[in-house]
This record gives sequence, C-alpha cells and structure tokens, in this order.
Amino acid sequence: MEDTFRHKGLRERMCEEMRAKGITDENVLEAMRKVPRHFFMDPSLDSLAYEDRALPIACGQTISHPSTVAFQSQLLEVKQNDKILEVGTGSGYQACILAAMGARVLSIERHDELFQRTQRLIVQLKYFVRCYHGDGYKGIPTSAPFDKIIITCGAPMVPPDLLKQLKIGGMMVIPVGDENYEMRRITKLSDTETKEETFGNFSFVPMLEKKQGGNNKFL
Ligand code: SAH
Repeated sequence: MEDTFRHKGLRERMCEEMRAKGITDENVLEAMRKVPRHFFMDPSLDSLAYEDRALPIACGQTISHPSTVAFQSQLLEVKQNDKILEVGTGSGYQACILAAMGARVLSIERHDELFQRTQRLIVQLKYFVRCYHGDGYKGIPTSAPFDKIIITCGAPMVPPDLLKQLKIGGMMVIPVGDENYEMRRITKLSDTETKEETFGNFSFVPMLEKKQGGNNKFL
C-alpha cells in the first residue's frame, strides 16, 4: 500500500470539493486529508478513489460517497476521546475518519468476511478502531453507553437497543427509510425524551437483521 504525491494531491482536491459541498468542520476536513481512501478498496479502483462516489467493496457492499462520510461525521460533532459506536464497518473508511478526528471507535459488521478483512487492515493502519462481528441492531451492550452512534446503512427505523446504549446528551446519526433514506440526528435528552432533526435524503445499502457467516451461520 503506497500513498503517493498524486494520491495526496487528489485528496487535497477532494477536500476542497467537500468544502464546496458545505462541509465546514475543519476536524472532518483534516481527517479526510490524512486518511488514504484508496487503502480501503480494491487496487483496481485506485483511480476512482478520490471522486465523490460510492464504490463496491467485498460481499456486495459499498464504501459510502466521501461527501456522505463527511456529512455524517460533521453531524456527529466529534470531540476528542468521544466513544463512538459505528454500525456497518464495511471498508473501515468511515471508522478511520472518526478515529483520525480523535474518537475511540467500536464498529460492528454483520458480514464475517468483511469483518475479517477490515479488521486486518485497521490493525495494519493502527487507527483507534475496534472491530466486532455481530448484528448492529443489538449494538454492544457491554461497552455502552456511547457518546455518539453512527449508522452507515439504511435503517427501517431507529433500533431501540441502540437508543438505549446512547448516553444522555449523546447523539445518533442515522439514515431512516426504505430505499431512499432520510438523514436524521437524534439527541437523547433524557431516558424518555429525544430531539430529532432531519437533513435530506441519501442512498445507502440496507441495514439487514442478524449477522452472517462466522462460526454460526445466521445466528
Ligand atoms: N461505513 C462503511 C459503509 C459500508 S456499507 C464504509 O465506510 O465503508 C454498510 C455496511 O453495513 C455493509 O458492510 C453492511 O454489511 C453493513 N450492515 C448492514 N446491516 C448491518 C447490521 N445489522 N449490523 C452490522 N452491519 C450491517
């Protein structure tokens, strides 16, 4: 894996594009300038890595558009040392962007094959991201509560277990819908109250139930 001057130049240009598209959080832009997106995909896609498009990864999944990663990261208002749960590790790019912003990230992926590959990559890259193979609907109760939760697949509704695992005062960024997903930011005000904000429509692969592969098929 090589990060050349050409890659760095393309990243610089990508960050300018993100700025033009409304990303103002300098911490997000700095992380996107640092993290080599081309490391998170097949080398044959290298020439497309810094265009604002989603690209295929293993198991029929996709790495999100850079502008979607930037937008979700900005909505999370990441603070140094925030403990963040990500649902949908996929390529690991979004998780590493949050880690580069100073967060401690725990990320769940339902596909065993993707989990294995991405865990290996992240260990190599040395980002503060811990990978889990499991069903994101259940979250990680043993590590809760989280300061922030980010869902990077399209959810049919807000999973109640995830809301439970959010700190009071914490925020969840989640695309909700069916095929077309509305970006929502949910702030947990108390055990019984939330504030919801919406931010337009995005496309995502669907959030599916139950983990796949590993020791137990479809457990
Ligand atoms: N954050 C990723 C986006 C990957 S696409 C990246 O930066 O590349 C979304 C991922 O969510 C897919 O890998 C998909 O397998 C995973 N996913 C879907 N439903 C899930 C669930 N219930 N639990 C955990 N992961 C899930």
